Amino acid sequence: MAGTLAEKVWNDHLVRRGSNGEPDLIYIDLHLLHEVTSPQAFEGLRLAGRQVRRTDLTMATEDHNTPTLDIDLPIADLTSRTQIDTLRNNAKEFGVRIHSLGDADQGIVHQVGPQLGLTQPGMTVVCGDSHTSTHGAFGGLAFGIGTSEVEHVLATQTLPLQPFKTMAINVHGELPPGTTSKDIILAIIAKIGTGGGQGYVLEYRGEAIRKLSMEARMTICNMSIEAGARAGMIAPDDTTFEYLKGRPHAPEGADWDAAVEYWRTLKTDDDAVFDTEVDLNASDLEPFVTWGTNPGQGLPLSANVPVPEEIADENDRIAAERAIEYMGLTPGQPLRDIKVDTVFMGSCTNGRIEDLRTIAKVIKGHVKHPDVRVLVVPASARVRLQAEAEGLDQIFKDFGAEWRNAGCSMCLGMNPDQLAPGERSASTSNRNFEGRQGKGGRTHLVSPLVAAATAIRGTLSSVADLAENDPSFANLDIDAIDGSPLAPLDPNLIVQV
Ligand code: SF4
Repeated sequence: MAGTLAEKVWNDHLVRRGSNGEPDLIYIDLHLLHEVTSPQAFEGLRLAGRQVRRTDLTMATEDHNTPTLDIDLPIADLTSRTQIDTLRNNAKEFGVRIHSLGDADQGIVHQVGPQLGLTQPGMTVVCGDSHTSTHGAFGGLAFGIGTSEVEHVLATQTLPLQPFKTMAINVHGELPPGTTSKDIILAIIAKIGTGGGQGYVLEYRGEAIRKLSMEARMTICNMSIEAGARAGMIAPDDTTFEYLKGRPHAPEGADWDAAVEYWRTLKTDDDAVFDTEVDLNASDLEPFVTWGTNPGQGLPLSANVPVPEEIADENDRIAAERAIEYMGLTPGQPLRDIKVDTVFMGSCTNGRIEDLRTIAKVIKGHVKHPDVRVLVVPASARVRLQAEAEGLDQIFKDFGAEWRNAGCSMCLGMNPDQLAPGERSASTSNRNFEGRQGKGGRTHLVSPLVAAATAIRGTLSSVADLAENDPSFANLDIDAIDGSPLAPLDPNLIVQV
């Protein structure tokens, strides 16, 4: 019977089909852990006298609560230190592999899985973290789970799940210069809304998606959750295989050949039917930015802040009024006129080597706007090492940016990197909720290109805006930048302990 990619992966992991409305029981191939959502799950195991069933399929890293400065010192914040210590103790007690601060493979969980080659096509991947959807870029079914589900997976390596509906998102055409995969996903969320994907697994398809690098695909799948979807997927292809080949946990030799043969079957059949289909033309896109307090409140950079009185739907109008007030904006104000205090370049959405290379290409030889603080935070310690090996760190420092250690950093206010009340950021992360980057902080979600241009001009800007005053920006060859492969580094390298 014809099937979609999501249905194929689901069926390949079926332990038991549920009957009479019961959920199916699905086998989990990879379970990723971090310090925030795992403590109660381990405590549950401890109380029940259980062990971790498959330590070989389980991996932990430290990311949300980690500082990005002085990582060799004890963590100053008591809550953060307790969270990290608890994870380390649990990993030790239950025999779970952990990449701690100072380790070359410490970093944001959604970067560490792919960079190690742990995330592979056709896998089921879970983590107590909503942006687990990132891993779907490899053609697996990857989704965030709650704490009780984390405990269930630790104990059984399975998960009871109700089947999802499927949605095809067909992205036609070719991205214009100055736009990136971040603009694709912001435009999709603006189109279908933050609840538009609810109950669905999204499959991103079409010419524009096929041309994206793996890292750009990860950016898209990462933000599926911001459209309310359970997961996002992209069928694996040669780009996927090239990214994976040679990574520490990728199959080798005959196993590699057999794996690729299977992975090539992981695509939606021509006659398969999705529950819903959405179309978007990438050729029409401009750089997108958010103006409001959810990722669906986004517009092309050339637009103005919405005027609530002109919004017909009452709920949307009320939401816009509230968002505009929180964000301290004026209805009708051009988005390009919005001044920012901070530019944050990082997160599991856009903190990869490709993003850093892109930003460095734009800012090289320039200095930041004097009123703007710029934070550059690699998604993992290995990405940091790679960037330093390429001399990107020096470009950031010469620009006037702060070059930090790996972690979630300012993506969320759970570590020292935060916005002050009323402070405004252009951020390459994925959430712009009230207080997300610190109490009272105001967040505009942007692509790495917009972040770089904004850091130079001080107002939300595109690379085309830079080129108006300096023609050298018009000749940037951004399209050629690709995050794969990450050059091999000594796996035992210690960053700083
Ligand atoms: S970078 Fe942000 S979205 Fe990603 S895992 Fe960390 S806190 Fe979550």
